[in-house]
Amino acid sequence: MPKPMIADLHCDTALRLLRGHRLERDRGHVSLDRLRSGGVGLQVFACWISPAFRRNRALDHAWSLVEAVKRETARHPARLQLVADGVSWRNCRRGRRIGVMLGIEGGHGLGTGTGSLEAFSRAGVRILTVTWNNSNAFACSAWRAAKSGRDTGLTALGRKLVADANRLGIVLDLSHSSEKTFWEVLRLSEKPVIASHSCAGFLQPHFRNLSDAQIKALAGSGGLLGINFYPGFLGERDGRCGLDRVADHFAYVRELAGAGCLALGSDFDGISRVPDGLDGPHKFPALLNELKARGFTARELRDVAGGNFLRLLGW
Ligand SMILES: [Zn+2]
Repeated sequence: MPKPMIADLHCDTALRLLRGHRLERDRGHVSLDRLRSGGVGLQVFACWISPAFRRNRALDHAWSLVEAVKRETARHPARLQLVADGVSWRNCRRGRRIGVMLGIEGGHGLGTGTGSLEAFSRAGVRILTVTWNNSNAFACSAWRAAKSGRDTGLTALGRKLVADANRLGIVLDLSHSSEKTFWEVLRLSEKPVIASHSCAGFLQPHFRNLSDAQIKALAGSGGLLGINFYPGFLGERDGRCGLDRVADHFAYVRELAGAGCLALGSDFDGISRVPDGLDGPHKFPALLNELKARGFTARELRDVAGGNFLRLLGW
């Protein structure tokens, strides 16, 4: 079986790059060599904006992160390429480069309204995680709803955000969003949405994970769930979490809603702990082998590895 192209829907390496980390170094989870040896063809770099930044300072910080990812991509023109549409993606594949996709994690990074979304779109941003743990001007977050017991869902500005993102071809990401936000976005969005880095709540009840009903609805609307590798979201047994536990989540979702909604959402460089045997992108093939052993067909492995994401993007 030829090695499938791997797309990872979420890593947090952008902040490390802004702080001076270089991708040729093997410190942290994500590096050029690890991406290459893992067979990664497309990596989403989420620009996470700390909630300590507000309004225009959050917007400035978001731009700094976007620029840091672009600078690092430009430093490796033979190996990396920013991809933002089907044309750049095909060009990237022809050149045997790794596609770098920009995302913004936390709507507060847009500043005070949706006006900045167009400029981010022009800069190549293709994914917007509507909230991080903090609620913002657009929507209620999962963390806030869990802490306060009150889920306020989308605001009027949030409804405009959904329409604007649809129009600009920016994929909405509902990881970190509250349940009410999730359902409202799913109802309003004319395009499929993703939960880029969450797990199955049935296997590990946690406010960051999705219920069976949410996963089924996501699958039914053509959306994707990228499985997160954080042991706290996967669930540990006797204090340990291995590849088998990650595979449990993939197998569970496949059984519940089919393999067509599954993707990888590692959260590398954003998580303090990783499952045994899954300490970087170079271990993606080991995970796919585990899924093969669980009965995933060659076709399903191709889809889960990256095919589903390309389908969603229309590339
Ligand atoms: Zn996150």
